[in-house]
Amino acid sequence: MMDTSLSSAPVFRSRVSIEQVEEGTDLAPRFDASGLLTVVTTDAESGDVMMVGVMNAEALARTIETREAHYWSRSRQCLWRKGATSGLIQHVIEMRIDDDQDAVWLRVRTAGTGANCHVGYRSCFYRRVDLPADEVVSASSAELVFCETHKTFDPVAVYGDVPNPTQL
Ligand SMILES: [Zn+2]
Repeated sequence: MMDTSLSSAPVFRSRVSIEQVEEGTDLAPRFDASGLLTVVTTDAESGDVMMVGVMNAEALARTIETREAHYWSRSRQCLWRKGATSGLIQHVIEMRIDDDQDAVWLRVRTAGTGANCHVGYRSCFYRRVDLPADEVVSASSAELVFCETHKTFDPVAVYGDVPNPTQL
């Protein structure tokens, strides 16, 4: 039986030379063995890192075509239009790709409260590892400090349950 999912998969330019990939103007992304590339998403205004995710070819194509961030959800194994449930859509202001074209940088303006994290915070990076200047910290005793003091929305009220269950 014919696999129709393959024929409808988005087609990017093929990668023919290092010069083309690193010095040229062709978008010729490289997806890993699982068909994914890494995406780092920052706030277009503040420059703060909001999240790190992955895209498959379809997510990358839809992001380009709609100018709204789409990702691949590894926990749910499905295409994920960011904000589909919460309304916190990430409007793409700029999309960059790195030297070997296996990582994307999205600069976004987020709708609504501006939150990007399903836990309710503005950024997924709402905690830092505490590294006091005058103390030696061991890996086993390292602790986290909250950088964001309050959630910008209540995830339970928005989702009912957790949209991207964290794997333990
Ligand atoms: Zn998050």
